[in-house]
Amino acid sequence: MYEGAIQDLIDELGRLPGVGPKSAQRIAFHVLSADPTDVKRLAQALQRVKELVRFCTRCFNVAEAELCRICRDPRRSDEVFCVVEEPKDVVAIERTGEFRGRYHVLGGAINPLEGIGPDNLRIRELMSRLADGTCKELILATDPNTEGEATATYLALLVKPMGLNVTRLASGLPVGGDLEYADEITLGRAFEGRRAV
Ligand SMILES: [Zn+2]
Repeated sequence: MYEGAIQDLIDELGRLPGVGPKSAQRIAFHVLSADPTDVKRLAQALQRVKELVRFCTRCFNVAEAELCRICRDPRRSDEVFCVVEEPKDVVAIERTGEFRGRYHVLGGAINPLEGIGPDNLRIRELMSRLADGTCKELILATDPNTEGEATATYLALLVKPMGLNVTRLASGLPVGGDLEYADEITLGRAFEGRRAV
């Protein structure tokens, strides 16, 4: 244990996801010995992300304007929506280059143990986007784990009366895993081989 500012920094870093006590200590000492301009840039990047980044009012991806880059792109198809849990999943799917439609970011998955139900996700917003009938296919690209499957099943039943073509990514994705950890070839294949639900 250290005193004062260095311990405060270790404590703050240790609260970040994926940063254990040893990493927190290593990063803190790296910051201590780093060039002051580099540290200033890091501090500014942390502040700017909170000031500038917001969520797209249409799809809830991260954005720096009212609409995100993908929603603003007129070349993308309005007839296919890909439903994902988090903005990082949008990045993972974009990397495959397989998808040219629009996204809808739910903001998580149904997880009764953590008290997350359909009302806590952007499902109502999805339903209002689908209401005008432009979208013909809904790809459910939630994570291949229990919560992701439960969310996909829930959505499939919910939109069934709308007569949409509802698909789920093909198997081959690591079961129990997280979409963002799938390599782009596997994820690309899962896209091509998506099946109706
Ligand atoms: Zn958007």
